[in-house]
Amino acid sequence: MEQTKVKAIVIGGIDYKEKDKLITLFTLEQGIISVLFKSVKNSNAKLKASKEPMSFGEYIFTNGNTKTVTSAEIIDSFYDITKNIKKYYTACSIFEIIKTALPIGETSAEFFVSTLKSLELLAYSNADIKVVLIKYLIKAFEIFGYKITFDKCSICGQKLLVHKIFNFSHGDVTCFGCKSLDGIELNDGVYSVMRIISITDFEKLSTLKLKAELVNDVYELLCKNYYYRFGKKLEISI
Ligand SMILES: [Zn+2]
Repeated sequence: MEQTKVKAIVIGGIDYKEKDKLITLFTLEQGIISVLFKSVKNSNAKLKASKEPMSFGEYIFTNGNTKTVTSAEIIDSFYDITKNIKKYYTACSIFEIIKTALPIGETSAEFFVSTLKSLELLAYSNADIKVVLIKYLIKAFEIFGYKITFDKCSICGQKLLVHKIFNFSHGDVTCFGCKSLDGIELNDGVYSVMRIISITDFEKLSTLKLKAELVNDVYELLCKNYYYRFGKKLEISI
């Protein structure tokens, strides 16, 4: 039977029949897909490790209605994330965001790379986990058409000087004159923390020194924006 090879991250899974598992993969080539791991609950199953959440690797599966995984090679298991409950929940939030934001059948290399970079930071750096999640959310908004703009009003283009308004109706920052009914005024601290995280590359996030209180405020603001954009609450709080 013809087979397909993909690069993928395990983002979920459920038991299926007695010994099998249905695993959700976020793949680079095909977006979100569901694949079957047969007899994988046996303790000596050769594919046992590659079905674990967060595993990143190359997966080969049969084509057809049921995609059955025949072999897998793990590139990184990101095992260190599971040793810290907060990091683990952050990874779960990331997987929730993928399942909510990425429509079935669609692919996004940029989203895939951002996911990998976030998992790397959680596993191997001392970057603030909330800062990582904020960066991931800002990236997700950008990729799915809700880029947050800074410095200039997103509606009239005027330079933002005194008032910076975040408008939940369209998920962007405007001047006071362009404020919508559900717009809220951002204080300078919240605005600049959101801006700094937005313009800093994933690789540099661990060098940022930001006030925890402001990071919290930005996180809450973006969780609310996530609800407005995708119609779903971010269930896992960190
Ligand atoms: Zn304006």
